[in-house]
Amino acid sequence: MRGVSKFACSFLYQGLRSAQAICRTSVHRPIKTCISEAYSIQSVFQHSKGNGALQSLPLTVLSEDERAMKDTVYRFCKERVKPLVLKMDQESQMDEGLIRDLFKNGFFAMEVPAEYGGNGSSFFNSVLTIEELAKIDPSVSVMVDVQNTLINTLFLKLGTEDQKKTYLPRLAVDTLGSFCLSEAGSGSDAFALKTKAEKRGDHYILNGSKMWITSAEHAGLFLVMANADMNAGYKGITCFIVDRQTPGVSIRKKEDKLGIRASATCIVDFQDVHVPEANILGKFGEGYKYAVGMLNEGRIGIGAQMVGLAQGAVDIALKYTMERRQFGKRIYDFQAIRHQVARVLTQIECGRLLVYNAARLRDAGLPFTKQAAMAKLYASEVAEEAASKAVEWMGGMGFVRDSLVEKFYRDAKIGSIYEGTSNIQLNTIAKLVEQEQ
Ligand SMILES: Cc1cc2nc3c(=O)[nH]c(=O)nc-3n(C[C@H](O)[C@H](O)[C@H](O)COP(=O)(O)OP(=O)(O)OC[C@H]3O[C@@H](n4cnc5c(N)ncnc54)[C@H](O)[C@@H]3O)c2cc1C
Repeated sequence: MRGVSKFACSFLYQGLRSAQAICRTSVHRPIKTCISEAYSIQSVFQHSKGNGALQSLPLTVLSEDERAMKDTVYRFCKERVKPLVLKMDQESQMDEGLIRDLFKNGFFAMEVPAEYGGNGSSFFNSVLTIEELAKIDPSVSVMVDVQNTLINTLFLKLGTEDQKKTYLPRLAVDTLGSFCLSEAGSGSDAFALKTKAEKRGDHYILNGSKMWITSAEHAGLFLVMANADMNAGYKGITCFIVDRQTPGVSIRKKEDKLGIRASATCIVDFQDVHVPEANILGKFGEGYKYAVGMLNEGRIGIGAQMVGLAQGAVDIALKYTMERRQFGKRIYDFQAIRHQVARVLTQIECGRLLVYNAARLRDAGLPFTKQAAMAKLYASEVAEEAASKAVEWMGGMGFVRDSLVEKFYRDAKIGSIYEGTSNIQLNTIAKLVEQEQ
């Protein structure tokens, strides 16, 4: 993994440079002007730089680095993750040795620059990794996803140099982070959170309780959204870096869930927790922006998790339909099944294109909020449909634990709930569509 360290999407960047060049030479934005002036398609092409092949690379074409990354993750999943999946699900427990191996192989520091102990990779490579992991185990996938797309992203975007130097190397080698936003009374309405931070000298005292916190059981640090100025309403929300060892931090109930059972989801209490002012991540009172903004990256990650999950379920069931025989034929030979397989694989491909596009936009520094919401919304729907069909294609065998598709079916449901429910994604998309008018 570490050998594949310069992950710049060279194809993409070449493509983007070309796209900008096209805009400058009047193909893109000024096309309206061209049309009203001359209606001349030929003049558009005469002005272009002539490197058309690079201007429109297919989204699913991977660079050498990206292919190497995908292959490496695939091998890791086959050898290290797959043998543990059933046991971890049955025991609702992530394997500690697996977490250590994921750290050792660089899975938790994809985009973190080498100077802070990371891989210096791209966001797109994180997304490929999350997708590959989810083909085998969506629980492992979400653990890697939260660390890369939420925790590391927050530090990289908002951290002071001191904070980056202190925390990023830990997050790369041995410390999981948890993102603490939701509370019992504050889910979709994130700004209604009640956790308080009161200033005392150069410290803040945190009091409150966070709910549904992914990876909390194993986490060494928490990024906690707390209101440091209740009078300012949601504009008092501030992000605090809280070490697990700080007195007053306690991990309470671990939820007994329908799916992603190996991923620990816990209540985390903060009782008179003293946090130095220097542990504010980003600006005082801007936590509300980060909570909403950072979830955009997170949503692409969840989209990738759902696409991987859908593919993983179909891979197992498809193999079965090609081996199992009834009425003297393979199950796959019945047109009713073939057409369903074709439809589901088409949906998965659509989901993948949405996810890859959103990730490529993010790496390119272009707006991606709407695309991220669309990717998560659609990929989570596809995952539910694909896992459900996979169970049906395998008949009774799809309904038993050993088949693993039963687990994918349970795991799929979370996609439409966390990091913004499907209704919240629809609200975001609709709002942005309105703004575009
Ligand atoms: C397994 C798991 C892991 C999680 N991990 C984390 C984590 O690591 N960190 C964290 O902070 N949180 C985490 N969450 C919390 C998650 O983000 C919330 O569950 C989610 O945002 C929904 O909030 P809620 O459960 O309170 O549902 P509610 O907000 O109560 O929503 C209930 C229903 O009402 C609908 N609804 C609500 N508001 C609207 C609206 N304005 N318009 C239309 N419909 C609406 C919703 O779509 C939903 O169908 C996790 C949750 C789960 C289940």
